Amino acid sequence: MRRIFLVLLSFTTYSIAHTQDRDISYVTSGGKLKPLQSIMDIRHYTLSLEVDTMTRSIAGFAEKDFILDKPSDSLLFDLLHFYKVTRVLIDKKQQVVNHMHDSLFIVARPLQTGRHTVRIEYSGVPPEAVRPPWQGGFTWSHDKHGNPWISINTQLQGAKILFPCKDHPSDEPNEGVDLVITVPGNLTVAGPGILINTSKPRNGKRTFHWKTNYTISNYCILFNIAKYAVVRDTYTTIDHHKVPVEFYSLADDTAMAARLVKLRMRDAHILEKYFGEYPWVKEKMGIAQVPNSGMEHQTMITYGDTAAPIQYGNFEYSANLLHEFAHEWWANKVTNTDWAHFWIQEGIATYADALFFREMQGEAGYDSTMVGIKAGIRNKVPVVQGEGLTVAQTYNGDIYNKGAFFMHSLRYVVGDSVFFPALKSLCTDVLYPYDRFLSTDDVEKHFSKASGLALKTYFDFFLKTTRTLDIEVRQLWPGTFLVYSDNAPMNLPLDISTDHGIEHLEVIPGKAKAVKIKSNTWPVVDPRGWYFKRVINY
Ligand SMILES: [Zn+2]
Repeated sequence: MRRIFLVLLSFTTYSIAHTQDRDISYVTSGGKLKPLQSIMDIRHYTLSLEVDTMTRSIAGFAEKDFILDKPSDSLLFDLLHFYKVTRVLIDKKQQVVNHMHDSLFIVARPLQTGRHTVRIEYSGVPPEAVRPPWQGGFTWSHDKHGNPWISINTQLQGAKILFPCKDHPSDEPNEGVDLVITVPGNLTVAGPGILINTSKPRNGKRTFHWKTNYTISNYCILFNIAKYAVVRDTYTTIDHHKVPVEFYSLADDTAMAARLVKLRMRDAHILEKYFGEYPWVKEKMGIAQVPNSGMEHQTMITYGDTAAPIQYGNFEYSANLLHEFAHEWWANKVTNTDWAHFWIQEGIATYADALFFREMQGEAGYDSTMVGIKAGIRNKVPVVQGEGLTVAQTYNGDIYNKGAFFMHSLRYVVGDSVFFPALKSLCTDVLYPYDRFLSTDDVEKHFSKASGLALKTYFDFFLKTTRTLDIEVRQLWPGTFLVYSDNAPMNLPLDISTDHGIEHLEVIPGKAKAVKIKSNTWPVVDPRGWYFKRVINY
């Protein structure tokens, strides 16, 4: 018995170890910036890869230009252990490399401060996506004619599952990215930025060179492959720039793509109104059809058939189509410096839904969207849980729903005449977009400055705790009530519905500051639902 048990045990151990070898569920992005990462500012990435669709493998090199703040005799990059690194050159000289777990330590001759180039040659079988885009990797699919149809998703696990990089949201390549991707000759590569060149077929293969000059998040440095057709149009921005619109769709789906291009341009007008001009006017407004749910890949947002728009009265709407597009402003243009502040990009992109319905259906449409968003709030952990956190520590539904609801409340607290211009300027102010980053404190300072209110306690209350705003209504005698809040984080406006209409109060924290209300019906607190609150009636 015992021996059999031992045999079984060792077999089980072997099986687990073997599966874990290809299991990347532990892999996440960001966290506390390591000292060897913090001395390095990434300026540019070149990713040159050949994709073998038969063996489902990739091979090539990644080249990084970076500036060192301090001299160092070693460098650290992140790269999934699945890959084999064959050669590393720093400033064209070969170096010793140690690939441990998912970290790549390069032992270099002492490197001085200033600009350097590292070239890392590598190959391997990338992880397959389990549930893209959430559990990312490569998705090796086929269109209905049997042609390979491949997508890549890396946001939650980090770009290290595709290429060696500094896997932290606080550093984007300031001078952009070149992607040089070789695929079987009948296929097309859809990537970020501008298609610089497509090679002539050679040995049954073609190479596509995509280039972006903008800063870009690591998780948007990737590409999709299919037998694509391109549906084109031109969009004129709010500031009168002409931007090419390109939809890389499967050849059978060009009619659908042409329809979605029109929706994309309609949504662009709506989002520009609230967030400012489309951010990538020098490149394109791209969409790529992929065999999974869509993602916010910069200038080449992906689209999956599950996101097909549905008819809403006299207009069409797709939550996924709009949400991923809103990320061009919130995530791609304005990027959080740490995954601790993930809510800024997900919360405001979710809030974009309410703004869309405000445009299409007025305030009633906005309100009913916010009711739906509020219903999704779980409130188990604070939206902002600290600093230096990984995606795995911060990713949950509340960064979407409670983040969006927070913006909704903020609209009420500061008023429309402050909120909408400040929301737009958060995205257009030179302090935050493109090669800058922002945190929750930056958002607070921005709205405090715009409103003239000290909003720090308000931000902390709703984002850094799971508390609700408690409003108490006490009947003194029939027809007279006291309304107060013991825990309001600051003086707050509050609407009360009475038998003679809406009264606008200011709630000052503390029972002693209770406001007396006259009503022959029981007062309804915050009837439009601006606050994440609890009402206690006595
Ligand atoms: Zn999102």
